[in-house]
Amino acid sequence: MLLRLSRTASAADLEVLARVARERGFELSLLGRERSLAELVRQAGAGDPGDRAAFEDLAFVEAVLEASDAPELFQRRPGQADGVLEVGAAAFGGGHVSLIAGPCALESEERLLATARAVRAAGATLLRGGAYKPRTSPHSFQGVGREGLAWLARVSAEVGLPVVTEVLDPRDVAAVAEVADVLQVGARSMSNSALLAEVARTGKAILLKRGAAATVREFLSAAEHVLARGNGRVLLCERGVRGFDKTTRNLLDLGAVAYLKRATHLPVIVDPSHAAGRSELVAPLARAGLAAGADGLMVEVHPEPREARSDGAQALLPEAFAALARDAAALVRLDGRHLVLPVEPRPRPRTPEGART
Ligand code: PEP
Ligand code: MN
Repeated sequence: MLLRLSRTASAADLEVLARVARERGFELSLLGRERSLAELVRQAGAGDPGDRAAFEDLAFVEAVLEASDAPELFQRRPGQADGVLEVGAAAFGGGHVSLIAGPCALESEERLLATARAVRAAGATLLRGGAYKPRTSPHSFQGVGREGLAWLARVSAEVGLPVVTEVLDPRDVAAVAEVADVLQVGARSMSNSALLAEVARTGKAILLKRGAAATVREFLSAAEHVLARGNGRVLLCERGVRGFDKTTRNLLDLGAVAYLKRATHLPVIVDPSHAAGRSELVAPLARAGLAAGADGLMVEVHPEPREARSDGAQALLPEAFAALARDAAALVRLDGRHLVLPVEPRPRPRTPEGART
């Protein structure tokens, strides 16, 4: 590993550097006449993904120029294949592309059931919908809360789709994990490391959305918080970052999607709804996301967008979502991938009367 040191690094700083290097099993040599470059060569131990951060965090280290020999867990090693995340029939990565769809917020059980049936018929393999809504204003609708979790559980069983729903508060993680197949950590919570630790512990798949002002590096570090706690089931979601122009709600960062597909083995999806903010722009952004290499899409769908309690302007009608799903299937076929479709629910095995189940 190569470090660039501050020109004002003192003899005491260099002593600290030598100690940290020794503790982590590296031999230190100072390079150059100004001794502003430090080379660390591993002498002992297996290396640790924390090596890089241990040096980066020292006040007099300006930059780590070369990564340590122990990559962080999100990193794709040379030649490493895509990780594949499977949830029910859905699969993301390794040539599998899946669609997640549903309302922004849960509003009533009947409406959720109707929407779930429609998105499944159109090709979605995961149902989305927020019981707890992160809203910019405290005066906006904050979601129906716990009651919505019961609706999700019943609708999921009835329609045969696993569900993804957001959890905002570490205190709600256990209750949400009881019904959710995938826990969503939203853009506003991406850097909440206490929440990331708590969701990781459930062992459930985690849909991690990029913060509106988060760099790609910060996004990957947030994923690392989950991976470092032994939960490798992370799905990254690009949903647009804050731009200077309000024509679209957010600026969909397709470069980040293409980059992430190379830099990490984790599957990556695109949320065109929160990027567009307007329903007529959702399909083109969705197609662009898939063309950039995304392993799936998460799309907001509502049967009556005008009546939606949140994000109605960007919601697709079920028919428009069905058209998008057809386009998605055709598009991913072009690069040798395939769109995963819902499987017919298997009939429940019948047990003879009185038999122990
Ligand atoms: C959502 O998915 O409904 C949501 C709130 O998204 P984001 O966290 O990306 O704003
Ligand atoms: Mn929304």
